This record gives sequence, structure tokens and C-alpha cells, in this order.
Amino acid sequence: MKHINITIDGPSGVGKTTLANITAKRFNCIHVDTGAMFRTFAIYFDKKGTDEENEQAVCAELSNIDIGIKYIDGEQHMILNGEDVTGLIRTERISHVASVISRYGNVRDELLKLQRKLAAENNVIMDGRDIGTVVLPDAGTKIFLTARPEVRAKRRYDELKAKGKLEGAELSDIEKDIIERDFRDSHREIAPLVPAKDAVIIDTSDLSIDEVAERIAGEIHGC
Ligand code: C5P
Repeated sequence: MKHINITIDGPSGVGKTTLANITAKRFNCIHVDTGAMFRTFAIYFDKKGTDEENEQAVCAELSNIDIGIKYIDGEQHMILNGEDVTGLIRTERISHVASVISRYGNVRDELLKLQRKLAAENNVIMDGRDIGTVVLPDAGTKIFLTARPEVRAKRRYDELKAKGKLEGAELSDIEKDIIERDFRDSHREIAPLVPAKDAVIIDTSDLSIDEVAERIAGEIHGC
């Protein structure tokens, strides 16, 4: 039986994860957050002290890393070599390392296998940067979310503040970081951040979460 595959791509802080969660509940799918997978790799390199800019050093470590995914009460948990690291992945340092190592082909290939396996075995809503273009090019519904950088920075700032994870960062630092990550994600050679030709593009800058969720639901057919 072919499973339902829905993709949501877009830049940092656009609300992909929140919207994918809402949509997954509504359509009874599992939500696969692929950014969390890159972040889990980043935790390993950060702990180990591997220079993230050194592609050879990063790739040499890949065979020592086992990434698993578990769903607890519908929430995705990331398991790194047997340890649940879910609570550690959402810091600005890990965002940076994840964005740097996601340029490397060997890192992406490792995760591609896991991502495609999950989509083949489950009804999924998968969010990321290249899901509609590379990971699941045959997905039935493809959404690409955008929003102005200053809007995304404010959302990220509010989210980190609410979780007590600001670590002294100013709004302007977060906006600078978001612009830098967007540039890196959009200009890399492998699987850059671009909308799939058949994606529905939604600018969320001036829309509420509920409004975007409705727009997405309106695009999903056959569930
Ligand atoms: O979505 P999130 O901000 O958690 O992703 C962290 C980083 O992982 C991104 O900045 C991006 O570089 C990378 N990523 C990617 N491809 C994906 C998902 C995330 O390159 N499908």
C-alpha cells in the first residue's frame, strides 16, 4: 500500500515544525522533522569537538554515529547512539553546526535513507529544506512556506525566550544568524533550499498559525 506523503519546506523560523505538527494531528500522520536529524548529528560533533568546517573530519566520524527516531505521545524524539538528545538540539550553537554540516553530501546521504524509509512505511508529513525536491519528489502534496526575515527572527526570539533558551542573544543577533543560515542553505551545491516546481508557496508573514494551517489543509487531498 502506498502511504500518504506530504512535504513542508521553507527557511529557518518560518513555522514549519509547528504547522507540520498541527497538520499531522489533523490528518492522522506522523510528523517527521528532518531538521532535528541534522541537529542530532550536530550534537555529536559539538560534544566530540570536531571542527564542523572540516568536511573530512566530519565525514570520518559518520560510521560512529547511530541516529534513531522514536515517537513518545506523538512527539518526535531523537536518539543519538542510544541517548535521547531531544532536549539539547534547539540552541543557537546547534543551529549553526547543523547548518554547516548539512552542506556535506555524505551527511545528507546518511539521513536520506532514514527519511525515505520513514515515508515508505508510514503516512508522513515531513518538514525540511529539500523534502519536496530531493527526499520525496513524488509526494502528493508539497507546501513551501516563506516569511520576511524580520518576522522569522521575532518568532524565533519569542520561542527561545518562552523556553528560557535565549542565552543572552539579542533579536538582531538572531536575525543576522537567520539571514546567514538562509544564505548557506539556499546557495549550497547539494539539495539547496528551493521550492519544488509543483509546490504551493504560502507567505506566512502576515498570517496567523491557524490561517496557515487552514491554507495547508485546503491543499491536502485524498486523506
Ligand atoms: O529546520 P531546522 O532549523 O531545525 O534545521 C536545522 C538545519 O538543518 C538547517 O539550517 C539546514 O541547514 C539543515 N537542514 C537541511 N535539510 C533539511 C532539514 C534541515 O539541510 N531537510
